[in-house]
Amino acid sequence: MDLHSKATSIKGIGPKKSVALNKLNIDTLEDFLFYYPRDYEDRRDLRKISSLQDGDLALVKGKLILIVKGKVRFPRKQTLKLLVQDETGAMEVVFFHAAYLEKTLKKDEEYLFYGKVSDNMGRIQMLHPDVSKSEDSSEQGILPIYPLAGGITQSEMRKWQREAQKQLSEMEEYLPENTLAQNRLCGIRHAVENIHFPQDKKRLMEAKYRLIFDELLFLQTGLLMIRNRMTAGKTGIFFSPQAKVDEFLATLPYQLTGAQSRVLAEINSDMESNKVMNRLVQGDVGSGKTVIAAAAMFKAAKCGFQAVLMAPTELLARQHFDGLKSMFSVFGLKVGFLSGSLAAKEKKAVLEQIESGALDLIIGTHAVIQPGVTFSNLGLVITDEQHRFGVNQRAVLTKKGQNPDVLVMTATPIPRTLAVILYGDLDISIIDEMPPGRQQIITRAVKANGREASYEFVRREVKKGRQAYVVAPLIEDSETLDARSALGLYDELKNRFFDFSVAFLHGAMKQADKDRIMQEFYAGEIQILISTVVIEVGINVPNATIMLVENSERFGLAQLHQLRGRVGRGEEQSYCILISDGGSKVAEARSEIMKATNDGFLIAEKDLELRGPGEFFGMRQHGVPELKLADLVKHIKILKTVREEAEKILSEDPLLQNEAHLSFKRKIDKMFQNVENLNI
Ligand code: ADP
Ligand code: MG
Repeated sequence: MDLHSKATSIKGIGPKKSVALNKLNIDTLEDFLFYYPRDYEDRRDLRKISSLQDGDLALVKGKLILIVKGKVRFPRKQTLKLLVQDETGAMEVVFFHAAYLEKTLKKDEEYLFYGKVSDNMGRIQMLHPDVSKSEDSSEQGILPIYPLAGGITQSEMRKWQREAQKQLSEMEEYLPENTLAQNRLCGIRHAVENIHFPQDKKRLMEAKYRLIFDELLFLQTGLLMIRNRMTAGKTGIFFSPQAKVDEFLATLPYQLTGAQSRVLAEINSDMESNKVMNRLVQGDVGSGKTVIAAAAMFKAAKCGFQAVLMAPTELLARQHFDGLKSMFSVFGLKVGFLSGSLAAKEKKAVLEQIESGALDLIIGTHAVIQPGVTFSNLGLVITDEQHRFGVNQRAVLTKKGQNPDVLVMTATPIPRTLAVILYGDLDISIIDEMPPGRQQIITRAVKANGREASYEFVRREVKKGRQAYVVAPLIEDSETLDARSALGLYDELKNRFFDFSVAFLHGAMKQADKDRIMQEFYAGEIQILISTVVIEVGINVPNATIMLVENSERFGLAQLHQLRGRVGRGEEQSYCILISDGGSKVAEARSEIMKATNDGFLIAEKDLELRGPGEFFGMRQHGVPELKLADLVKHIKILKTVREEAEKILSEDPLLQNEAHLSFKRKIDKMFQNVENLNI
């Protein structure tokens, strides 16, 4: 037997148990050792029966002095009552459906009982305790509690774990010496022994720290290696420093904010170097990311390269196209649009122009990364609201040129410390300043009884010349969900606001209809736009000053913040009204946070607190490998140390090819083996 022996080499694990274990990803003895407990039971103190109190969780050693079978109405489901005695007193132990126990328990023998104590009118009882032979030391001490499935019991798992522990002496250290020493980490054997069967709390802490450190280090190093793979050994495009963006900036009706200038300078210096740019621009909604993208595209075009901007929705792509086309028209730059919804003829023409180089700048949806799209000279790739794109998609886009520079823009407000770690494959620029003159958006949260007044408020604002969004969680009324729909609201509001122009919009509509409606809304011809969350991302209509959200309890904080970001984009005071039909405590807390702050980063931190550990912005959904012990929120301090450590290791050995790093690399590969679509 060794660490790589199959689980079935343990006595008692047959084909059936082995299938159940496979579901827990346990195949070998080593897998057992890296299958950690979720909690522990402290069974170190033996309690005297006379000291037991109602509600205690206690371990008792006592002699079995009486076994009483209950009524034999269902022969196989009889109850079993035991009388157990130690030198201080006696207690009753009760089992239901426990015929099997009768055969194993013997009168006058000593046993250990661990369970919850109840005081039944002065009679001390334990209901369904764990029972074991008193000489069985494996049921004493700090005992692991494992997450289980497939009919495996806790005591089976413990037994097998002890078997697996016998091979522990073979386990080799996989962390580099230096890493261990400098971070005062205990050795792997000590850690693996004590994470399962700790002798005391101190050792358990040491073990936990070491294994959490490991997990975060694998994650971080793996992410950094992805970045290196994307850039290492590749020479990027050298965009000439002579190609200044000043003449473009001079045409803007405003000056860049300090933060925008700083970020643009960072991009500029990437573009002017021959390393491949891989940069994330993070800025709250409305912080002015588009113009930064535009400036970078301008520079690329001036240097004779094509640039492409990809957006996650057709609406947003259209908006960027319209905006950029007019920004660039004075410079004679040719801007094209590509999306799946173009008519075949139109599409063919655009594809030809992309291939011939007739188009300088291409704006579009996912359509721009499809196989049939060939660029003549792609130099810069920008993705907007990138949290919707996977690393793989980015990679596909990148392959459409000769190592083009890549810029990724997102408003997903992730606290900086976490972003640095999560976006391990990107450099980060942050626009942490809003354009001047922005008013704070006033946010109100009301219940159903505030609906009437809210809509009257909408009326007054629209009368003053403003525009409003009304957002509902559903497209159509649903029989199963008790929530408002865009269509239902449209029917209601077109009557209420018969003197205004009201329209609705949702993602499932025909593209031509969506375009027309957005055009009319931009132009101010539509005054009230009823919509689903399709307008969540990126839409920019400065005259819209009201965002009214129906059933706001059904939206998450990040989403509410994005929705609110659609207003407050012009000079006028803007408002966000959240109407909820009750909802949970968490929903209430979300409303409170929305009322209290406009700051996306603060909201992100609160969001973390509300969601609690383990649910970080749908990490799993993003394909980030699952962490067993580590928690990105709780262990943020360790994360910082780990980040430095990962960088240090990779700076010495970027591909982890040194002998000393081979087993470390195997660990990382294992963690990332199922990560096909890392999407952060
Ligand atoms: P986001 O970062 O959410 O993508 P946008 O790029 O859509 O934000 O910008 C929001 C609005 O702010 C736009 O109307 C844009 O013209 C305007 N804007 C951007 N930068 C500035 C600035 N420095 N001063 C004034 N207005 C600006
Ligand atoms: Mg934007």
